[in-house]
Amino acid sequence: MIQLGLIGKKLSHSRSPEIMDKYFRNLGIDACYSLFPLDDISAIVGLISSRPGLIGFNVTIPYKELIIPYLAELTPEALEIGAVNTVKIYHDSQSSVPSLTGHNTDVSGFKRALSEFAAEADAPLSENAVILGTGGASKAVACALRQLGLSDITFVSRTPCKSNTISYRDLNADLISRSRLIINTTPLGLWPETDSCPPIDYKAVKPGTLCFDLIYNPLETMFMKRCKASGAKVSNGLKMLEYQAWDALEYWNIIPD
Ligand code: NAP
Repeated sequence: MIQLGLIGKKLSHSRSPEIMDKYFRNLGIDACYSLFPLDDISAIVGLISSRPGLIGFNVTIPYKELIIPYLAELTPEALEIGAVNTVKIYHDSQSSVPSLTGHNTDVSGFKRALSEFAAEADAPLSENAVILGTGGASKAVACALRQLGLSDITFVSRTPCKSNTISYRDLNADLISRSRLIINTTPLGLWPETDSCPPIDYKAVKPGTLCFDLIYNPLETMFMKRCKASGAKVSNGLKMLEYQAWDALEYWNIIPD
């Protein structure tokens, strides 16, 4: 049986096993997907040596960047973002130490989810986008937007220090009303803090604007509710989660022909 899993710190909330198990059943893949909570990233060495059947794993908070020193190679997406969410393990009979490579399927997962959302909303993706938050997921989102041809990307941060990054105060009503795509990559609104949302002027959101929240628990976040109240089209992050999981199966090369 193929062994796969997820490393991170707190994993009890993860929906990845449920999503992976569904894919395994539907595709007839004989595999199991386990949760591996690690107190420290250095524990990855012991995990891999104690599980010779493990051929790959996903990576979540807070190890998406910390895993990189353990990897021999990165795909172009992972290199551009500086974060990895999928690792492949190569067992070489010539060596006692397996070799690891890293990829980031958040990019392709978001790209597909956003493209479908825009098509369903009958709203072409325009040139400009606003990304709330500047963490690992925001970098994957920006990489996907660039691949989709969007050139005018503004990040919004509590502590702006880069050229294309502004503060929440600078994100004024005029800027919001000109934005055709707003993406929440902050954890604001995530269960159990479901009453919180990014501090933006929701009344300035124009009807028809695409508002995408990476959060999928709850399925309708406060950000989505408030954008919808202004006439925006909204999406949560569940499809992105499913697509990034599918793309990880492709990276592990275990999808039957
Ligand atoms: P992260 O590295 O912790 O970054 C989140 C960013 O949000 C931070 O860098 C910060 O940016 C901002 N932020 C954090 N706390 C905030 C607060 N109290 N108020 C305002 N801004 C705050 O996390 P991540 O890995 O990027 O993930 C972000 C979210 O995306 C999480 O909810 C995660 O579950 C979700 N996600 C979903 C998927 C999916 O498949 N749907 C995939 C990846 C991530 P500033 O410091 O610049 O303000």
